[in-house]
Amino acid sequence: MKVIYSEKQRLHRVKYEFLSGEPTACFEKPERADMVLNAIDQHGGFSVIAPNSYGTEPMQWVHTADYVEFLQSAWSEWEARFGSEHDASPYCFISPRHLRHRIPKDIEGKLGYYSFDMTAAITKTSWEAIQSATDCALTAADLIMQGEQAVFALCRPPGHHAAPDLMGGYCYINNAAIAAESLRRQGKGKVAILDVDYHHGNGTQSIFYERDDVLFVSIHGDPDYDYPHYIGFADEVGEGAGEGYNLNLPLPQGKTDWTLYGPALQTALEKIQQFGADALVISLGMDTYEHDPISYFKLNRDNYAEIGRQLGQLQLPTLFVFEGGYAVDDLGHNTVAVLDGYMNSPA
Ligand SMILES: [Zn+2]
Repeated sequence: MKVIYSEKQRLHRVKYEFLSGEPTACFEKPERADMVLNAIDQHGGFSVIAPNSYGTEPMQWVHTADYVEFLQSAWSEWEARFGSEHDASPYCFISPRHLRHRIPKDIEGKLGYYSFDMTAAITKTSWEAIQSATDCALTAADLIMQGEQAVFALCRPPGHHAAPDLMGGYCYINNAAIAAESLRRQGKGKVAILDVDYHHGNGTQSIFYERDDVLFVSIHGDPDYDYPHYIGFADEVGEGAGEGYNLNLPLPQGKTDWTLYGPALQTALEKIQQFGADALVISLGMDTYEHDPISYFKLNRDNYAEIGRQLGQLQLPTLFVFEGGYAVDDLGHNTVAVLDGYMNSPA
């Protein structure tokens, strides 16, 4: 299987995030990709290739132009005002309640306007990494269009929390959504996105919520108790033409092992088959792992191999896009377990 990865992704390293009221080292860090690359190397069944460059135009397929411009200029505006000692980070947010929706002129106001939480800080070199991650997803989509059965876009920073004009959850540009849109524009009639990250893919849902040509299915921790808290419930089924093309399968935190996860996955795969997908994009978050430090499911490596096998049985062109997963020591082998399961899936 081809793996698309760029060393430029190392350029994004945020210093801190706040967890339970405490500043802590950011869980989303370059070492995550290193562990995946190590495991891929040990496996031997993969070839790692660099992405092509696509510029910013494909980002505007799913994001607003003003948001993409903001991401590019945020650091220079921040540095001009505050210097380069600290990462650019919001402290004041626009709420859907009682505040006016106008874009402030000041960088602190802009950061809050375009963020929904404090986990997506911007560093001096973040933009290069963000852009290279999206290039990886787009290169993978092109390879699928050229006939590859499955490709893994090893993207970081991840993307599935990024909405049309919002960053958050370590995400800036929605790589999976752009990959799906690329497949659509190049001729795949129907594209299904299955998000198996522990956290609901709020950004991807928002992008495709009113569309019937891209199905979004997500299996995740119940948002009544888990991030992103305000979206990801089972009664969100899509709107307008998109009604019936959004399926959320929230599962309880703390006690979700394979006995609960397996049936949810089955439901997801049946929905994708009923939809009649021509291609499949997997938002491959690995934070459903039993030892993940910030998530609360209980999946193990055997379960990941089984997920891969079941995905393979759909027999669809499949583009894996890397998302979350923070148990760094096991992250590489868990990720490879899914991909290996897929490659060894009985036809
Ligand atoms: Zn996650």
